[in-house]
Amino acid sequence: MAARGASATALKQVAQEARSCTLCPLYRNATQTVFGEGPVGAALMMVGEQPGDQEDLAGHPFVGPAGRVLDRALSEAGIERREVYLTNAVKHFKNEPRGKKRLHKRPNRYEVEVCRVWLGKEIALVQPRLILALGVTAAVTLAGRPVVLSRERGRLVTLAEGRRGMVTIHPSSILRVPDAAARRAAFASLIEDLKSAAKQAVA
Ligand code: SF4
Repeated sequence: MAARGASATALKQVAQEARSCTLCPLYRNATQTVFGEGPVGAALMMVGEQPGDQEDLAGHPFVGPAGRVLDRALSEAGIERREVYLTNAVKHFKNEPRGKKRLHKRPNRYEVEVCRVWLGKEIALVQPRLILALGVTAAVTLAGRPVVLSRERGRLVTLAEGRRGMVTIHPSSILRVPDAAARRAAFASLIEDLKSAAKQAVA
């Protein structure tokens, strides 16, 4: 318990340090660093790609449209969000201003690689039993190799440093499915992957 308290304190310090990170150019065009949130010792960690527009403004991960999809899927899967450590591979919102909007831009390999220092510290301090990658950017970052989601999703994979992991789709991808029936099917498949991950996290 004392060790967990020390890790929680260390994690807060790391989050504080990340607030002034300038290791890659992404901080310049974003409002703030969006660090991970959740308990030290969480059995399950989920890692997305990067904060979106609303996360950038709020300073919290998964609070925008994709976060609402994830919340619904977690609820359907019987998983308490507050028991999961939620974070992203990249901690600043990469975007391109377009009129009054800021369009999401996928982080490049260099940005993901540089930002991995923060994710590595989160993993080391939280010590999750299983890490679920949400989407291909997180999957590649965590596995350290190319990942084909359709081939590997929903089953146990070995991540870098021998950690146990699983991969699934990013919840934002469901929002982009134009057809309602296909969208329902994609959502149902996400729920199944979340259930499998939760089961494996306590196995
Ligand atoms: S994206 Fe990551 S590495 Fe780049 S400035 Fe932000 S916190 Fe630092």
